[in-house]
Amino acid sequence: MNGDTLVQSRPATRSGASWNFGAGPSRLPDAVLARAGDSLLRRAADGMAAIERPFAGTTFREILAAARERLARLLGVPDHYRVLFLAGGATHQFSAVPMNLLDPSSGLRRAAFADSGYWSRRALAEASRYAETTVIARHAGDTPLAVPPLGEWTLPPDTAYCHITANETADGVAWPAWPETGPVPLVADASSCLLSAPMDVSRFGLVYASAQKNIGPSGLTIVIVREDLLHRPASMAPLPFQYRLQAAEESCANTPPMLAVHLAALVFEWIEACGGLTAMAATNMRKASLLYRAIDESGGFYVAPVEPGHRSMTNARFHLGQACLTERFLDEAEAAGVMHLRGHRQLGGVRASLYNAMPEAGVEALVGFMADFAEQHR
Ligand SMILES: *Cc1c(COP(=O)(O)O)cnc(C)c1O
Repeated sequence: MNGDTLVQSRPATRSGASWNFGAGPSRLPDAVLARAGDSLLRRAADGMAAIERPFAGTTFREILAAARERLARLLGVPDHYRVLFLAGGATHQFSAVPMNLLDPSSGLRRAAFADSGYWSRRALAEASRYAETTVIARHAGDTPLAVPPLGEWTLPPDTAYCHITANETADGVAWPAWPETGPVPLVADASSCLLSAPMDVSRFGLVYASAQKNIGPSGLTIVIVREDLLHRPASMAPLPFQYRLQAAEESCANTPPMLAVHLAALVFEWIEACGGLTAMAATNMRKASLLYRAIDESGGFYVAPVEPGHRSMTNARFHLGQACLTERFLDEAEAAGVMHLRGHRQLGGVRASLYNAMPEAGVEALVGFMADFAEQHR
């Protein structure tokens, strides 16, 4: 498939566009949706549609291998890492990571966590079913929000891995740099930021991300794991979640989520055709700056609770200075076509998710709506 076509083709969208600012599933690139129907759901001359083909057959294996290579190229994944396409979500990995990386017979029975917000605490809660756990760093105080302090973290000697949430989707907090964990492998849940900007995979033992933010539809999770970590026994892990087995079988130890893989492959092509992750980051930075500037220059009508250097580029969180206007803001936003802005149910307020496929026009529509609303209610 030709990348130029991917950038240029446009699907029919209804006039009076509406924009999905939900935290996930997110909007897919227009060009990918336009291609997907034809390339995935129509039967070829031999009578089979792409998602009807055997998963162990050559056609699908080639598509999977090409997707894996393209993803590795986009991210610059070093050769001593393996890229897995697994079924399920990031939540499955909250269990799969400890099941694969703990090695009690070698004295590695502990998982260390940085508590940066909602998703890191969810990951910690799951891991504590299998591992001794330590919270190694946590943000002190509540306003303005920030990630835990950086620096060299001293970890207990029985630590199998140290987990961070690279971008806190609910809290709107992102790491401005990665922590140092010495010989202990750093593991990142990068669900809401992978492919939104370049990421130095070599800093991590393992990176995982569920697909429904920047990668494709739900049901697929990418795991990028350093080869030496595949030697840990993982005997407790269910077969489809054994990294070593899935690495050996090229993610086909059982039936992979084929439709999601096909769509992710189209998304990778789209990213490459747009200029790769540097281009993604530049656009995402412009989108986020536009929104945060509108918040910061609203004279307190809108307030962003996160410290500027720690603000997420993909999930911008804010609230209204007059909290009693929040419901009205959300209702009128929906009516104006800027959709799904409600903050995470545990945190309230407003959150706008600006993943790769959200065009700048969508953010301009949001900022325009915010200015109109502030004008009327100031
Ligand atoms: C969305 C998200 C999850 C949950 O992913 P599921 O696919 O629903 O399991 C976990 N962590 C982060 C950081 C997320 O953004």
